[in-house]
Amino acid sequence: MMKHYILLFFTLVYTLPALAQLNPQSKKVTKTFFSDYEALENVTPALQKKKGYTNYEELMSYLKALVAQHPENIRLDFIGESQKGKDIPVLYLTTNTDTPKIKVWMQGGLHGNEPASTEGMLYVLHQILNNPKYKPLLDNVSIAMVPMANIDGYLKQDRYAANGLDLNRDQTKLMAPETVALKRAFTDFKPEVGLDFHEYRPYRKDFMQLSDFGITSLFDAMFLYTGNLNVPENLRTLTNTLFVAQAKAVLDSNNLKHHDYVSTGKFNGEIHFNQGSTNARSSATNYALTNTISTLFEIRGVGIGRTSFKRRIQTTFLLAMSYLETASANVTLIKEEIKQATAQQNEVVVTSKKTIAPATITTIDLDTNTIIELPVTIRDGLRSQPDLVRSRPTGYLIDANETALIEKLKLLGVLVSTLPETQEINVESYRVTAYKRASKKYEKMNLQTVETALEPSSKTFPMGTYKIETNQKNASIIFEVLEPEAPNSFVSFGLLNTQKEAYLPIYRITN
Ligand SMILES: [Zn+2]
Repeated sequence: MMKHYILLFFTLVYTLPALAQLNPQSKKVTKTFFSDYEALENVTPALQKKKGYTNYEELMSYLKALVAQHPENIRLDFIGESQKGKDIPVLYLTTNTDTPKIKVWMQGGLHGNEPASTEGMLYVLHQILNNPKYKPLLDNVSIAMVPMANIDGYLKQDRYAANGLDLNRDQTKLMAPETVALKRAFTDFKPEVGLDFHEYRPYRKDFMQLSDFGITSLFDAMFLYTGNLNVPENLRTLTNTLFVAQAKAVLDSNNLKHHDYVSTGKFNGEIHFNQGSTNARSSATNYALTNTISTLFEIRGVGIGRTSFKRRIQTTFLLAMSYLETASANVTLIKEEIKQATAQQNEVVVTSKKTIAPATITTIDLDTNTIIELPVTIRDGLRSQPDLVRSRPTGYLIDANETALIEKLKLLGVLVSTLPETQEINVESYRVTAYKRASKKYEKMNLQTVETALEPSSKTFPMGTYKIETNQKNASIIFEVLEPEAPNSFVSFGLLNTQKEAYLPIYRITN
C-alpha cells in the first residue's frame, strides 16, 4: 500500500510541473483576455506554418526575398557570427532623399525563447517595404535591424547563448561574441533611438503565491526605460513623455493592456515588484547611457508557446511603428535634445537607491478569472535617489597594459586617446578600502564588491597611458564601467581583479 502512495506521490511531483509547462495557460484565460488577432496577414515564415518558429534557413530566404524586391530601400549585411558559426544578419533600411533622418536601431530575439520579438521584426520589415502607408517614414528615419540577435538560443527556443550567458546581462562586460558583434554594429550605426524587443513570462513562480490561487499578468506589453540618474534628465523625460506616452495611446486605441515594466523578487521572504531599469548591464539602460532614446519592450509571451501568437506579433508591430512615427514627426526636436544632453556636465551618480512604496497592480486572479487590484510593494527604479555621488572628473587615465578594458570602452562607443609623452597630471587614485568577492558565480564571473577612497596627488604618467575625456557624447557609460563601486563596473564584474588596500590602474583627472 505504502509503495503505491510513494509511487503516486512521485508521479504527481514529476508530471504536474511537466503538464504545467506544456500548457500553462487555461483556455478560459486566453478566451477572456487574450483573443488572437486573426486579421494579421500570414506573411512571415513562422506564420506560414502551423507549428514551431522561424528557423535560420527560413529567416535568410525571407530576408533575401525582401532585398530582391526592394533593393533601393533595404540592404542585408552581417554583424558577426554566433558561437555556433551562424552569420547574424542585420538589415539597413533607408531612402536616397537627403532630408535629415533619425537613426533607429531595432533588435529582436536577444533572448532565444521570446519568439514574437523576432517574428514581429520580420513583420515590421514586410509592412515598411510593402505598405504604402508606412514607406514615407523612411524619408525621416533610417533603420538598422537585427531580427534574431541570439541565433543559437533561438533555434533551440532557449533564453541563453550557446555558452550559457544571458546576452542582456552582458552589455558592460561584453564577453559573448554575439554581444560584441551587436555592440560594434550599434556603435558604428550611432543610433539616436535604440529599441530592444522581448517577451516576458506571464506566469512567474512568485505569482503562484499571490492572491488566493495565484495570478497571471494582464499586460499585453510592458515598457522598460531607464531611471538611471547618469542619463541626462531631458532624455529620460523625452523618452517617457513623448515616445512611451504615444505608444501607450496606440495600445489603448487597440484595446491592448500595458504597464511600465515590473518583475518580482523576494526581499526578506516577501515578494516585491521591481519597476523600471537602472542597470547598465542591460540594453534599456545601456543604450540610454550613450545618449540614445531607449526602450525595451516586453510582450506577454514566454512559456505559452504559440498561444495568441498573432496578437503578440501585432503588439510588437504597433509598438515599433509608434516609435518610428514619433521619431519621424520629431526629427529636429530629437536631434536638439540629444545635443543638449551631450553638453551636460552633471555630477557622477555611482550608486543609487530605488524608492520603495506601496501601490496596486492590476492583474488577473486565476481563481475567479477576473481582473483584480492587487496591493503590492514596488521598488521603483523610475524614481531612484542618488546614493554615492562623486564630482565629475574631466577625464580618466588607465594604465597602458589594460588593453582588454580599453577594447570594451571602444566597443561601447567611447573615444580613447593616449598620452603623446610622459606627463605630470593631477589625479585622484582609487585605494580599495573594503573588498568582498562572491564565491558563487553570476554570469560566469565572481562579482567583486568594493569601497574605495580617492587619494589626490600629482603623478607622472608614461607616454602611451590611455586617456578618456568626459566631454564626449557617450560619457555616462564611462562612469558606469570605470567608477569601481558602480554595480556593473569592470571592477564589480571581476574583469579588473583587485583586493583590499590595492590601488586600481584607473585614475580620475581633477584639473
Ligand atoms: Zn527577454
